[in-house]
Amino acid sequence: MFSYRHAFHAGNHADVLKHTVLIAILRHLTQKDTALTVFDTHAGAGLYRLDGEYAETSGEAANGFLRLVAEPNKAPAPVKKASAATKSIAAGLAPVIQDYLDLVASFNSKGSHKVYPGSPFIIQRLLRERDKLKLFELHPTDSKTLSANIAQLEAGRQVAVLREDGFEGLKKFLPPPARRALVLSDPSYEIKNDYARVVAMVADSMARFATGTYAVWYPIIPRPEAHDVPRKLKTLANKAGKSWLNATLTVKSSKLTADEAGEVIRPGLPASGMFIINPPHTLKTALQLALPQLAEILGQDQHATSTVESGG
Ligand code: SAM
Repeated sequence: MFSYRHAFHAGNHADVLKHTVLIAILRHLTQKDTALTVFDTHAGAGLYRLDGEYAETSGEAANGFLRLVAEPNKAPAPVKKASAATKSIAAGLAPVIQDYLDLVASFNSKGSHKVYPGSPFIIQRLLRERDKLKLFELHPTDSKTLSANIAQLEAGRQVAVLREDGFEGLKKFLPPPARRALVLSDPSYEIKNDYARVVAMVADSMARFATGTYAVWYPIIPRPEAHDVPRKLKTLANKAGKSWLNATLTVKSSKLTADEAGEVIRPGLPASGMFIINPPHTLKTALQLALPQLAEILGQDQHATSTVESGG
């Protein structure tokens, strides 16, 4: 059951999308004085080493965060051939991307990129004293590592680590005391049932607390249940009369290829999305500038693209 370890994937293109969107949402939500509760239903280990054994084995960060961080040092592409995205990159990275890079940089000594913060540390960094963070992590090793990492923050009662099923555990906390919350749900989708469970969790949560902000990461892969996630969340939001935003980032084709010996080469994760219910009103414009830049920088073939769709 528990073969997924986020350490292999930390800093990949999906993390870049997810964490850029997460930061943009939190920047907005922490502008209001009222206390905010943030729930991370699938928290992971919290902190990762990009020079560690796991990350180096997969090399996924090289095509994600590390590629992005190298971008400002690159010579700009010749203007004649430049697409709208390359032109906008030459003019400067979108503020939400720069904010993401600055935040990751703050976990590292100057110029080094060894440490990559997972969602728990990104969230905690942006909270005010009055805000709360509840982290669910079921993996025995990762939940222990997460607890040890969080203990170093000396954040006291602000942050709670729960070794519980995040889909179920969330229920007892909704609605939160001050009636302001962000729920981030980032399952590993290791179990096929996760696709249905994440939608059911959002449906149940909205029945308990309709005004919360819900942010769900999902993979875009050729599986019907993966396509169902944004489709069903959209239906849910529309039926409840709530606004929504769906942001996707594709870095390569999802097609299988073959090597010279005829062996099938699987492409790895080609694309992913973030579906947000009750998003901040500022998010769409911010992502419309940022996502084409991410597709341009992180794109691995001509299929690289991004979309930002909203409704409600
Ligand atoms: N959100 C993290 C981040 O952005 O840094 C990464 C999370 S990773 C994609 C998914 C995590 O969920 C894994 O660490 C896995 O062990 C954990 N997990 C799997 N099923 C779970 C469940 N039902 N409840 C809570 N955690 C679960």
